[in-house]
Order: sequence, then C-alpha cells, then structure tokens
Amino acid sequence: MSQKIEEKLLFELDSPGRRGASLPDLDVPEVSFSKALGSLARSQEPEALPELSEVDVVRHFTRLSAYNYSVDFGLYPLGSCTMKYNPKINEAVCRYEGLSGLHPLQDEATAQGALEVMHTLQGALCAISGMDACTLQPAAGAHGEFTGMQLIRAYHESRGNPRKVVLIPDSAHGTNPASAHFAGYAVEEFKSGADGCVDVEALKARMSEEVAAIMLTVPNTLGIFEKNIKAVCEILHAKGGQVYVDGANLNALMGITRPGDWGADVMHINLHKTFSTPHGGGGPGAGPVACKAHLEPFLPVPVVVKKGERYAFDYQRPLTIGKVHCFYGNFLVLVRALAYIETMGNEGLKRASELAVLNANYLRAKLKGKLELGFDGPTLHEVVFCDKGMPNGVTTMDIAKRLIDYGFHPPTVYFPLIVHGAIMIEPTETEPREEMDRFVNAVEAIVAEARDNPDMVKKAPHNAFRKRLDEVAAARTPRLVWRKG
Ligand SMILES: *Cc1c(COP(=O)(O)O)cnc(C)c1O
Repeated sequence: MSQKIEEKLLFELDSPGRRGASLPDLDVPEVSFSKALGSLARSQEPEALPELSEVDVVRHFTRLSAYNYSVDFGLYPLGSCTMKYNPKINEAVCRYEGLSGLHPLQDEATAQGALEVMHTLQGALCAISGMDACTLQPAAGAHGEFTGMQLIRAYHESRGNPRKVVLIPDSAHGTNPASAHFAGYAVEEFKSGADGCVDVEALKARMSEEVAAIMLTVPNTLGIFEKNIKAVCEILHAKGGQVYVDGANLNALMGITRPGDWGADVMHINLHKTFSTPHGGGGPGAGPVACKAHLEPFLPVPVVVKKGERYAFDYQRPLTIGKVHCFYGNFLVLVRALAYIETMGNEGLKRASELAVLNANYLRAKLKGKLELGFDGPTLHEVVFCDKGMPNGVTTMDIAKRLIDYGFHPPTVYFPLIVHGAIMIEPTETEPREEMDRFVNAVEAIVAEARDNPDMVKKAPHNAFRKRLDEVAAARTPRLVWRKG
C-alpha cells in the first residue's frame, strides 16, 4: 500500500475543545462525574483523554484499517499458515442471535442447538481425519498439541509408565518440541532422510520402550507427504509408542487420505487454517484434537454426547486430563468451521485440497528457474524455495521486504530450518490464477533488480512507513505505552 501520510495516534491528534457529540442544553441539575460515582471514583479529574470530533475518530480508524494487509486484500502466501480466504457466510451464520446470544452457563435444555453444532462438528472432524473421538476445547494448534501430548501421557500412565522421550523430526514446527517438553517429555530430534522423509531403518534402530511418541507433520513442512507413514506407525506401535500427527497441513489431504487410516493415534486440527476461520491476531481460535478410541477416556471434560434425541455435556470421566479451556472452547469459531464444512460438503472439501495442491504446484512451476528450490522432490500444498545463487548477495530477507513494495504480504521465511534461507510459499486453493501470476511477476522483477540494481532490493521496503526494523529489540523490548512529550 502506498499511503504517504502516516496516521498519528489519537493522543497526538488531540485538539482541546473538540467534541464528538453535540447535545441540547441540560434541563436537569448538573451532577459531576466524580460526585455521581462517589467513593467508586478513582480520581477527581477525568483522565486526560484526547479531545476529538466524530469525523476525526472515524477517519483515524478507517485509515488504520486500510494499513492492514489481509487475505481480503490480496495473496497472503505464508507457508504452513494456510491463509485461505474466509467465506463471509461463516460470519453471517455465527452472528445468528440464537448462537451469538447464548450464555455459557445456560442450562443444557435451552442450548440444544448449540450442543448439536458441537456434536456435529466433532463428528465431521472425526470423519475427515479417520479418528474416533474429538475435543473442541483447545484454543489453537499449539494448544491442541499440548492437549494431545497430555492424552498420550495419561494413556501411558494408565498402563503404569509415562515413558520419557518424544521423537521429533528436524523439519518440525517449533511448537512441537515446546508442547512435548511442556508435557514433561525429553525431546529428541530425529534427522530426516535425504528424501525429506523419516529414515525407517534409523527409526527402527532408535525405537525403544522409553519412547512415548513420535510427532510428525504430514505433509511435512517441506510440503512432502511422509511416504513411510504406515511403517512409522507400525514401528512405534510394536513397542507400545504413540503416533502424534501435527494436522496443521490437513488442507492438502481432505477427502483424499486420513491420518486415522495410516495408524495415527492422535492429531490436532487448525480450524483457522484448514476450515476457514479467522487467524485472529491473538483473538479466539480453535485447535480441536481428534484421537482413536483408546485415548478417548482421557479427553478434556466436558465432552458433548448424544443421549437418545438429547445432547448433553458429559463430565463423568474419571480418567480425564481435566479442562484445557474455560467453558467449552471458542464456540463461535466452531460455528464458523461447521458453516464452512456444511457449505463445502464432501466433494467441496476434496476439491479444495486438490486445488490447494494444484495452486502450489502452479507457483512452483512458474517460479522454478527464478528462485532455487529448497528441495527437489514432488510437493503438495506448499513449496519451499531458497536464496541460493541470488546475485550480489541478495538474501531471503531482502526479497521478502521488497515484496511489500510490490503490494504482497511476504511468504514464510527462514522456515523450515533445514533449508538455508528458506522461502516457503502456500497459495491455498482460494487464489485465482491472475493473483498468482501477479505474484510471479513481482518475484521475477525482484530477481532482475537483484542482478541490475541490488540496492533497490537490499534497502527495501521503500513504500512502507517503517523500513528495516530491529526485529530482536521489537520482540524483546517492545514499547507498548505511549507517553506524552
Ligand atoms: C501453524 C502450525 C502449528 C501451530 O498452530 P497455531 O494455531 O499457530 O498454534 C503447528 N504446526 C504446524 C506445522 C503449523 O503450521
């Protein structure tokens, strides 16, 4: 975006005497704010809020909203994040008053429709993943991982030994080791074979009864389907281990193949990735966990069950790991996901996965020869390039920053860690070909600039208010409070 005026803070726009409303003169006695509140008033003086007119405030927020890059604005090619377009019908459905007006402590008898929504969604997620049971409580993918690892721990404990180690391949998302560690396990990194998949012989040699589980992302973060997945499951199960599938990349598989059928025991599903709910900017999300029947007794309470024609919350579960979220999870996010699943239908979901893979392979074919591939095997819904061979020392970071000038959100960069200078692109099925071509043209132009005018790329972005930020300081010592003067 190319606005040249940077929007000021409301405090900086302050203009003493301006008012947001004009009201007729009082015809009742005036009572001061602090008097009306009495001892509840925290101060005698009103806070020094900025004084502004209505139009000042409306323009301020409208301008700010236009600074955001969103999937409603253009391609958002963040690999592994599945930034697909979120259909507006999801928003319409979750705003129905009968759903949005519910109170979480309302009696079950008066919320049968809401319970049916949850029960139906649990069933749909089990059908899509090939699992037997599901909890909708976890608030995100990482929270789902932690929940799933707790299920595995509780299962092993119920058999007398929680075990010690969780194996995680070097291509894994950083949340995997964090979740396993949080669940009390030692994390052991497992090297991928030359083909980007698990080395079955090495796994066989390593597997022992101290290993609680393996955590595998399928397809993995290189976009590669784990071709040895059945063998991996057999090796783990032969020694009583469990297979955790990180289902963040389920968008490549819907209606085509199911983790439950491979032998996986438990997985999480990112509704904000695969099932078109907003990614939230830290807001409410949902990362349901689906599992096989042997893990069901440990699921968080309450579980939504159907008894005859009635739906109910089941709290009577002696082996439960407890609650992982207040109430029942982020209900209106669940409604959005079910709206998506119901509007797509079986065929629609399958088609979405097919097109997601097709679009990624279209970009791969178009960009090959312009950027170097990070890994040269067949890939599914995402493709990883890298900055190898870029002229004049231009790096992945430079390319990402320059893409901002061309009006794109940059792809995921420097992940997965096993590809040096990775540029990871996931267009998703909702991108039209014209938008992907626009992106290809931008990358092509940047590669030409890297050769002919490298400073243009190295000093990018030129059209953004902020140039190169000190990213470490921004993360470690953020200034979150505005102070006058
Ligand atoms: C996104 C992602 C996660 C974590 O999901 P959040 O909802 O962001 O917590 C885990 N693993 C992979 C492979 C992912 O892409």
